[in-house]
Amino acid sequence: MSVSDCIFCRVAAGTSACEEIYRDEATLAFMDINPANDGHCLVIPKAHFETVFDMPPVLFGTVASAVAKVARVVDEVFRPGGISLVQANGEAAGQSVRHVHIHVLPRRAGDNLLMNWSRDGGDARRFDRDRIAGIAERLRSRLRG
Ligand code: AMP
Ligand code: ZN
Repeated sequence: MSVSDCIFCRVAAGTSACEEIYRDEATLAFMDINPANDGHCLVIPKAHFETVFDMPPVLFGTVASAVAKVARVVDEVFRPGGISLVQANGEAAGQSVRHVHIHVLPRRAGDNLLMNWSRDGGDARRFDRDRIAGIAERLRSRLRG
């Protein structure tokens, strides 16, 4: 994908308008054009990466530092009941713009912004302690390797 095909690359390059709120060497933060709540903004790496798996983890850390800074200010300015930090990778996760971005999402009690999983419905096998332990072991051994 070239820079001109990606809306967030165009925003980072200044060829597409945005309500910019923060910028440093590697990151940019701007207001979401279709906010879920007042104060909803996005933090992106200036460089193009489609998902978190495509970028160096240390750069994701740099973006996360900017997110912490921006989220603190959003919290101070709006004093919402809470703030969700949301980042989607892939269509199934709800990613619509294929340039890594983290949503800084002010939350209010009863705002009805549902994450797309249910805590009660679905396959009850996922609550099984042995199953959870088995999954943890698969992940631990890969993370060790
Ligand atoms: P996601 O669905 O997680 O990929 O989020 C993409 C977000 O980008 C949505 O909340 C859109 O409203 C937002 N968005 C798309 N285009 C723009 C734009 N040009 N400026 C600001 N926000 C945008
Ligand atoms: Zn891009």
